[in-house]
Amino acid sequence: MQIPCTDKELFIFKKIAHAAEELGVETFLIGGFVRDKIIGRDTKDADIVCLGDGIALAHKVAERFNPKPYVAYFKNFGTAQIKLDGFEIEFVGARKESYRSESRKPDVEPGTLEDDQNRRDFTINALAISLNKKNYGELIDPFEGLQAIREGVIKTPLEPLQTFSDDPLRMMRAIRFAAQLNFVIEEETFNAIVADAERIKIVSQERITDELNKIMLSKKPSIGWDLLSKSGLLQIIFPQMMALHGAAYVDGKGHKDNFYHTLQVLDNISRHTKDLWLRWAALLHDIGKPATKRFEDGHGWTFHGHEVVGARMVPKIFTKLKLPLNDRMRFVQKLVELHLRPISLTKENITDSAVRRLLFDAGEDIDGLMMLCEADITSKNKQKVQRYLQNFEMVRHRMKEVEEKDHLRNWQPPITGELIMQVFGLSPGKKVGIIKDAIREAILDGVIPNTYDAAYGFMLQKANELNLQPV
Ligand code: ATP
Repeated sequence: MQIPCTDKELFIFKKIAHAAEELGVETFLIGGFVRDKIIGRDTKDADIVCLGDGIALAHKVAERFNPKPYVAYFKNFGTAQIKLDGFEIEFVGARKESYRSESRKPDVEPGTLEDDQNRRDFTINALAISLNKKNYGELIDPFEGLQAIREGVIKTPLEPLQTFSDDPLRMMRAIRFAAQLNFVIEEETFNAIVADAERIKIVSQERITDELNKIMLSKKPSIGWDLLSKSGLLQIIFPQMMALHGAAYVDGKGHKDNFYHTLQVLDNISRHTKDLWLRWAALLHDIGKPATKRFEDGHGWTFHGHEVVGARMVPKIFTKLKLPLNDRMRFVQKLVELHLRPISLTKENITDSAVRRLLFDAGEDIDGLMMLCEADITSKNKQKVQRYLQNFEMVRHRMKEVEEKDHLRNWQPPITGELIMQVFGLSPGKKVGIIKDAIREAILDGVIPNTYDAAYGFMLQKANELNLQPV
């Protein structure tokens, strides 16, 4: 084997080779597994291509293991999968694909290994390793994919315009691999993406968003977003992001380019967290800026309320991108809305009540919010960065003090609506809400301590103002 495999993998490949020999079909390891082994990345699944029936081969392979693994197969696609100790292996017969301009679905027919390699998207993904007796372990590399890996280059095996036109998702995949592997897209291939960008419109949003999430989870996601922007794809799939571009100048006063600022914030946060949604929050934190941008005489550029406008944009963006419209979205929305609040706490003479309010509003997401705020520092001036970081350290310290005193994280006010109804014989309605809100505000403002007795006393007082007496 010319790639570094584990003993377990080698054992499995030998069994596949023997099963294939028994069936008399030539068989190869192909695609992402070969690529990632050469690069030295983690691999989770392997693709096997054979010159024959992939489903029959999968069954033959399964028989060679004890206990026999379950074979999941899809007759329509001619593919089958087995899982061995969490290692997923997919079997397929080699195929030749031809696309017609009037249809997005290719005509598929059985083909040679060469046909199968030709239909692969990039040369780094077209590498195969023989599992056949005559040349077991040999690398079959008709497009110099190995060289492309060494040079860190992404290019299509055949004519790029045709490749992208056949399946426009490949444009997203090119950019995703560039981001994941920190590779460059070869010039002719990139120019073809620019030329073909419009065709991304025929790809389903789910497939596009899958690639966006992979870009998001890469080590330096800015690589992907910058390429999406430069290729023209971003304007089509996510125009609100493109609107962040540009630094306007009036009377010699400029503001920073919010697109590149955003990408830097995203890279900053990505150094500290693998959480996809925290990364989306970083990407969207300033999304409301273009809509709120004003030039105010004597002040310069302002973006008043951009956090509120941005938070309102989040559900629309999530809907369009088919991202989940659940608590993940609400988390992103919350962070966008609150992302300026810790900064306002860096001023002097901040009251406990302001700190308490932030702890209450952010709840269990306070750590994520603080991480976003620190990532949002993109000044090139080292002293400034140092000062801002120290300020946030101070905010954390204050939060800790208040938290230890008041236990506000995941806090619920000590008096429930039910208790209020019970004490005053009320049915659900406005007055219950008024009393409940008043108790919460009094605690957050520090008017009363965060205890049951104090809250109960305050409830009686507030109810009295509303002419209510306990029953
Ligand atoms: P990852 O597992 O990180 O998504 P991968 O390259 O393994 O990366 P898969 O989607 O599992 O991606 O695809 C396996 C192989 O199938 C690829 O390496 C490539 O050879 C081929 N392939 C996948 N999608 C396409 C496509 N849209 N066009 C052409 N070939 C493709």
